[in-house]
Amino acid sequence: MAYKDVLKNSIKSFEDLDRWLAGQKVAVDPKLREVIAKYPMRVNKYYLNLIRKVNDGIWKQAIPGIDELEHFKDLTPDPLDEEGDIPLGGPRTIVHRYPDRVLLLISNECAMYCRFCTRKRKVGDDKKNPSIDDIKKGIEYIANHENIRDVLISGGDPFLTSNSRIDDVLTKLREIPHLELIRIGTRVPCVWPQKIIEDTEFIEILRKHTPKSLKEPQIFINTHFNHPNEITAESYQAVKILRQLGIPIGNQAVLMKGVNDDTEVMKTLMHGLGKMGIKPYYLYYADLVEGTGHFRTEVSRGKEICRDLCGTTTGFLRPLYVVDAQGGRGKVPVDLGFSDGISEEKRGGTLTSPIGLGKVFINDPIERIEGKRIRNRG
Ligand code: SF4
Repeated sequence: MAYKDVLKNSIKSFEDLDRWLAGQKVAVDPKLREVIAKYPMRVNKYYLNLIRKVNDGIWKQAIPGIDELEHFKDLTPDPLDEEGDIPLGGPRTIVHRYPDRVLLLISNECAMYCRFCTRKRKVGDDKKNPSIDDIKKGIEYIANHENIRDVLISGGDPFLTSNSRIDDVLTKLREIPHLELIRIGTRVPCVWPQKIIEDTEFIEILRKHTPKSLKEPQIFINTHFNHPNEITAESYQAVKILRQLGIPIGNQAVLMKGVNDDTEVMKTLMHGLGKMGIKPYYLYYADLVEGTGHFRTEVSRGKEICRDLCGTTTGFLRPLYVVDAQGGRGKVPVDLGFSDGISEEKRGGTLTSPIGLGKVFINDPIERIEGKRIRNRG
């Protein structure tokens, strides 16, 4: 049961934070009471122990700051307009933006309330927790739409629901014949790995639902590490257990000022993910969420970092840098700046070598040469 105690003993209230900050010899700003009232806090001792110094990349993700009360231009509570993509008159547990895939929201609770969260407007608010009935209606919506082949179970964090609920959701989803993929978005391997390491009942539920043939939907896990110091013996063990079930694991990271907006930090993170057997998937430009303006970098910073990773690290460890465009316009990959002039109108363009070997022109399309080429043997 120790994993439950890790969560139970999290710091959550202003008084908890006050005591903890005093222990770090950091002055407490009374405005933090207002911050926590607006955006809930939960940080467990495991994650707190990853902090190496005041305001480092781990601290910034977990410890509330008065910057969260500042207003910035263009920031809104729901910049991706998720509320607008809830089907009209449909279940509030579904966000249907892309034609063939949906989000199914099954929990509003998380093991940690990350200060940069896109769903800051609602995570940790008990009143907004989806009911069993809402979840059931969400699953029915998926069953009634044959064009949906992919569902992303999200929240909050789906692994914070009870084992019986996750079992029930997976059982019902797997009965839907047109579903090919069931993705689960969770930060538990990073912020509360003890749950995966110790809760054997939970692991047996996941094992039961991993596909045994092509006829069953594949389960994917997408996790969320943002900083190399989050990669520990415990998170490695948790990820290894999930991989041993045969579940492929990807990672999405968010680019954040003072956390990972540095090529060396990002490279170390990607290398650490590789060692854990996790495929880096997306690097997100931080969404334009109210209360997170202090995390914002320039959009071009992510482009520079990804460009620096080209040629300096293993290709499949490079994430795709995307901006999730405002108003629910979807994820836009940001050009990495390695090509110039390539477009439908032009017949080629210039490629720049990422390892400093100059530029080369590529014809597009490559023209067919009639007749067999005769090799000149001199
Ligand atoms: S775990 Fe995910 S959903 Fe929960 S607060 Fe962190 S980023 Fe947001």
